[in-house]
Amino acid sequence: MNLILLGAPGAGKGTLAKDLAKIFGIPQISTGDMLREAVAAGTELGKKVKDIMDSGALVPDDLVNAIVREKLARPECHNGFIFDGYPRTKSQAESLENLLKEDGKKIDAVILLEVPKEIVVKRLTNRRICPHCGRIYNLITMPPSKEGICDGCSSKLITRDDDKEEVVTRRYEVYLERTAPLIEFYKQREILFTITVQNGDEDVTQMVLNVLKRVRK
Ligand code: ADP
Ligand code: ZN
Repeated sequence: MNLILLGAPGAGKGTLAKDLAKIFGIPQISTGDMLREAVAAGTELGKKVKDIMDSGALVPDDLVNAIVREKLARPECHNGFIFDGYPRTKSQAESLENLLKEDGKKIDAVILLEVPKEIVVKRLTNRRICPHCGRIYNLITMPPSKEGICDGCSSKLITRDDDKEEVVTRRYEVYLERTAPLIEFYKQREILFTITVQNGDEDVTQMVLNVLKRVRK
């Protein structure tokens, strides 16, 4: 199954992608994680994108498209994949469509997570992540059992630089301006499925699994 998760920052794409990846046995492709890894490793790409990411703006399409192209060519992606945070602009969506077409592939479903703005802002400012294993915590709704320490691997949890309140607001605006137009793009292709989150307590993974039963692979 080839999936895209669409939604504002903090909508829960990362957590959902990890759940679905486990259930379906296919990889999560998070361009955000890949870019953060490049920054942490201090590669040429990492040096180019660090300031852009810290400001909450989008990394240029050609850089992101290039890392996706490389990733999709790997054997682990041949039986399906879950995009989390890509595509984020119309030009990325078109690039992906062409890339998949070259291999006779297509996207089977795009899951739109619709979450009220108050909830996403609260989630992002309370988010902590494990830099080692990637697990995501929330100080209010999903705290680690030992303060500041990852349950999974005992590493020290960190706050992402772009999860500061001013940057969060900027990222939300960028989402509305650059990414939200993709909703219409995928609606036209009749592969968009919307999951509406009202209070943030819903079992989103279960809701998505129900929706995916209707998707033909
Ligand atoms: P979130 O979905 O919580 O905003 P991500 O981890 O997906 O966070 O992305 C973090 C940052 O990485 C973005 O604000 C942007 O600067 C950069 N980024 C990630 N994916 C893309 C993409 N597809 N296109 C452009 N920039 C991206
Ligand atoms: Zn960990």
